[in-house]
Amino acid sequence: MSDASDTSTDTTGQRERERTAYVIVGGGLAAAKAIEGIRESDTEGAIVLVAEEDRLPYERPPLSKAVLKGEDEMETAYTHDRDWYSDQHVELRLGTPATSLDAEQHALTLADGQSLSYDKLLLATGSSARALDVPGADLDGVLYLREMQESEALKARFKDGARIVIVGAGWIGLEVAAAARDAGCAVTVIEPQAAPLLGVMGEQVGGWFADLHRGHGVEFRFGEGVERIEGETAVTGVVTKSGDTLPADVVVVGVGITPNTGLAEGAGIPTENGIVTDSSLRTFVDGVWAAGDVANWRSVTLGTNVRVEHWANANDGGLAAGRSMAGQDVTYDPIPFFFSDQYDIGLEYAGYVPRGSDAEVLLRGEPSSNEFMAFWVVPERKGVRVLAGMHVNVWDTIDDVQRLVRDRTVVDRDRLADPKVPLGDLT
Ligand SMILES: Cc1cc2nc3c(=O)[nH]c(=O)nc-3n(C[C@H](O)[C@H](O)[C@H](O)COP(=O)(O)OP(=O)(O)OC[C@H]3O[C@@H](n4cnc5c(N)ncnc54)[C@H](O)[C@@H]3O)c2cc1C
Repeated sequence: MSDASDTSTDTTGQRERERTAYVIVGGGLAAAKAIEGIRESDTEGAIVLVAEEDRLPYERPPLSKAVLKGEDEMETAYTHDRDWYSDQHVELRLGTPATSLDAEQHALTLADGQSLSYDKLLLATGSSARALDVPGADLDGVLYLREMQESEALKARFKDGARIVIVGAGWIGLEVAAAARDAGCAVTVIEPQAAPLLGVMGEQVGGWFADLHRGHGVEFRFGEGVERIEGETAVTGVVTKSGDTLPADVVVVGVGITPNTGLAEGAGIPTENGIVTDSSLRTFVDGVWAAGDVANWRSVTLGTNVRVEHWANANDGGLAAGRSMAGQDVTYDPIPFFFSDQYDIGLEYAGYVPRGSDAEVLLRGEPSSNEFMAFWVVPERKGVRVLAGMHVNVWDTIDDVQRLVRDRTVVDRDRLADPKVPLGDLT
């Protein structure tokens, strides 16, 4: 077994002190930020980064936006360049997934058979795209969008007039639809529910997303599913559950993701909708932390455990986990934050609406103007309380939304819905 821990020596060769051995599993944003967090207070510790993908850590949002549209180069998505890792004295084990974890022995086994021992381990293994389980799903031209090479493969197929069928009207499906329309492709989206993003946004706002995309020439098949995908070796069409055949050159599957909890489960680390942590991102097993998409962390403000699949959570959570691992006193307690860009629309969403909540959607401004806000509220004795809020092209408002959520402010519903009342005046 190789040992990530080490001792440092002074100039006379005397043993100085033990260096902490950190191992970070996962090559995404959370992993990269954790290195920054560790190095803030521990410049000596040995850090090994173990990543399944044979690439440096990178950010995924551009893969469905500027990079997919050809506005930015793929290289801009990397979190840091290679020199940065060497400056931070990080040993990179790229393209070498961890295959098992013995949390009692503090030992991690890699796919190449090597074993690493650690003092402190971060699981930042992220999520994987959920597969579409229908006949023909393995045909050439059926694509997913999670990794860089998938974004490259999709971009290469964006030809003027190409017929793209997208399965799933979630965030990935909608962003791909927007990028594909920009490239002049014909786009049809198949979605089993009655509107895009119905579970998160509700009918009204979901309906606005449908109108936005229809206005850009996207066709929707709501209340519809995929029966099978047709083609000899490459996709030629999608047969829907109701028996229609939609001709297709490319099928993009965006039917959700699942957190990569396999290593944790195999090691007996408690998981439930992700890896369960406290508010310092520590799991309930000695020496193991979790951050990013895979972590189901304890939110002090929200009084519940939270797992989100957001860039900001990987960025800030990774940093917080690194700090916590290096011994800083950390309470990770953000209001969840998400953003998206589609066509000329930019939106930001902050807050947390538990699944199954009967929160009401309150609009502020007219959606058809493409400049409006939406709030998810619950009634209180003297008004409403905001669980979450989103703006569409109403910039510089998200801090106020976060404040309303964090402070559990009870506000007058008419004033909240009135764009003339500054959000900052709602107390
Ligand atoms: C196309 C796309 C667009 C997005 N757009 C937005 C957006 O606009 N706004 C927003 O807020 N969020 C967006 N997101 C979500 C955001 O990118 C994620 O929340 C974020 O990437 C999570 O980071 P992470 O480091 O936790 O996990 P990931 O980015 O999933 O990285 C985890 C890494 O761990 C590796 N790994 C897994 N298992 C192992 C193992 N056993 N051993 C070693 N390595 C392993 C994986 O290969 C992967 O590289 C988008 C995501 C995608 C895919």
